[in-house]
Amino acid sequence: LIRARDLVLNFGQTQALRGISLDVYPGEVLAVMGPSGSGKSTLLHTLAGVLVPDSGTVRIGTRVLGELDQATRDDLRLRECGFVFQSGQLLPDLGALDNVTIPLLLAGVRRREAIDRGRAELDRLGVGQYGARYPAELSGGQAQRVAIARALVTRPRVLFADEPTGALDSLSAETTMVALTDLARADGTAVVLVTHDARTAAYADREIIVRDGRISAGIGVPLVDENPADAGTTAGFSAHP
Ligand code: ATP
Ligand code: MG
Repeated sequence: LIRARDLVLNFGQTQALRGISLDVYPGEVLAVMGPSGSGKSTLLHTLAGVLVPDSGTVRIGTRVLGELDQATRDDLRLRECGFVFQSGQLLPDLGALDNVTIPLLLAGVRRREAIDRGRAELDRLGVGQYGARYPAELSGGQAQRVAIARALVTRPRVLFADEPTGALDSLSAETTMVALTDLARADGTAVVLVTHDARTAAYADREIIVRDGRISAGIGVPLVDENPADAGTTAGFSAHP
């Protein structure tokens, strides 16, 4: 689904990524672990096309991000990618339901349909009763489930999650991870999950460890699929409706 090769990215003197190659397979949950400052968030943003690497390539499906103009890349991200962060990502002046309908409205879905789909998504995350509440009126775990509803409502191919349980107590973290991984698996959505927490990583199918801008270990299946023959099918979107 995502094929990254030889990613190098520097912030001035800081070498954040020093040559990372990685495949993300359709429907898998991949945990990215490693110490603070090792480059995990930078890797996530580069895979999502938010950051442009100094060298190396990222392919999402059949498209190479570096070959797209900014508008096409933004459109691809809006349609194919969902994002969940540590906390504070909901728009504070909008209710929970309005937060969830935003990506649908941006994608051109009519208001009535967006509201129906937003409600259904909140229900699916078990927070359907909070649609009218503002983010400040929700607990951390409830807000995080609303954020997951917003990220999944467009049925993205891949969900990028950066420390999604980092601000939660262990019980809410567990509920949140169960919701996130169950629903992503039900939708066939791949998840790239950055976390410090081994209990959160335990929800993943596969794990990589980033140290000093490099992948220092991988647990699970091979890091890079060396057989390019199947690239068009496994990495493409054709099998997905
Ligand atoms: P954490 O676990 O603390 O979130 P991380 O693994 O996500 O850490 P990154 O945020 O990817 O680490 O940062 C990698 C390196 O790049 C760090 O040395 C960081 O200081 C640097 N860095 C990250 N973003 C920027 C930026 N916008 N400008 C300059 N340097 C940056
Ligand atoms: Mg980070």
